[in-house]
Amino acid sequence: MNTKPVKAFGSTSATEPLHEMTINRRTVQPHDVEFEILYCGICHSDLHSVHNDWGGTTFPIVPGHEMVGRVTAVGNHVKNFKIGDLAAVGCIVDSCGHCEYCNNDIEQFCDEGVTFSFNSPDKILGGRTYGGFSKFYVCHEKYVLKMPPFSDLASSAPLLCAGITVYSPLKHWGAGPGKKVGVLGIGGLGHLAIKIGKTMGAEIIVFTTSPGKVKDAKRLGADDAVLSSDKEAMAKYSQKIDFIIDTVSAKHDVNEYLNLLHHDGSVVLVGLPAQPLEVSAFSVVHGRRSVAGSNIGGIAETQEMLDFCYKNNITADSEIINIRDVNNAFERLEKGDVKYRFVIDMASL
Ligand code: NAP
Ligand code: ZN
Repeated sequence: MNTKPVKAFGSTSATEPLHEMTINRRTVQPHDVEFEILYCGICHSDLHSVHNDWGGTTFPIVPGHEMVGRVTAVGNHVKNFKIGDLAAVGCIVDSCGHCEYCNNDIEQFCDEGVTFSFNSPDKILGGRTYGGFSKFYVCHEKYVLKMPPFSDLASSAPLLCAGITVYSPLKHWGAGPGKKVGVLGIGGLGHLAIKIGKTMGAEIIVFTTSPGKVKDAKRLGADDAVLSSDKEAMAKYSQKIDFIIDTVSAKHDVNEYLNLLHHDGSVVLVGLPAQPLEVSAFSVVHGRRSVAGSNIGGIAETQEMLDFCYKNNITADSEIINIRDVNNAFERLEKGDVKYRFVIDMASL
């Protein structure tokens, strides 16, 4: 298959900084859309992957899976996109298309293994997929989202992963009027969970380890925000919360939050700490509670989320950076020093 060279930013080992490199993208196939990447968000999963926190990273790696761009070429069978259209790609770029999961629009659980936009085996070109810290992306039209014309396009990029990752469980677990929903950890995912959950009509209670975020959580729309070290404030919510979206990226005591759940409530893990979390049997047996999890969302639901956010004027609070500052941004993300998502202006590559 023919390829073309594309400028990218990636790393060749877990201990090296990211640097400019050249990757190959396939030339446009009959069902492919090629777009120039205008903006790409930086998710904590990019950081986990570059550091090989979970094992399984293949180097070189080009991270990035919150891409918004403008179409530059389409294959001759593509019907839904034309040159000049806005387009977006999130985490999913391929799946089998015929298993139980794909048929139910939850391609992220594809029986034959979903292909992620970076660091996945590339079933078409061979090798691994390379992500959005690059000038162009090529993807089958089925996995390319129609990007609504957000006035702040840069700040809409984080919706492609952070947005869908919280929208999907908020909807699945029934965020809406009369529901008390906890949001644990106010980073990229958490701050969008506040905005989206509040717009769905739920009462949002935030739990944070950062004193500086207590007031800010209310500005973002939370009804209340609790510093998790404040035992008295935590006790106020004992057995009161219907479900909690847990976005924490590092090991933490999930039992403290299970104890805040109303009966039949769930702590829904979306954060992916490298180390296992310990659950005391007493935390779940009492109140018939559950620890659950959720992984991004399917393509149809991602499109639904984009349209919902456009209609309700929801984007990320973003800090736009030059790609030359990406290593500094990774260091700051590691320390929790971002309000609340870094987005790379890809014109800087
Ligand atoms: P982020 O911006 O770094 O936010 C994570 C937040 O967790 C921090 O802002 C902090 O919030 C809290 N936190 C961090 N370390 C903590 C610790 N040691 N103890 C308690 N709280 C801590 O990261 P993100 O991009 O939102 O991603 C969050 C996690 O979700 C990552 O693990 C990422 O890989 C994962 N993720 C999963 C999916 C999925 O589909 N399941 C998709 C995307 C990302 P406070 O300052 O408020 O405490
Ligand atoms: Zn992500």
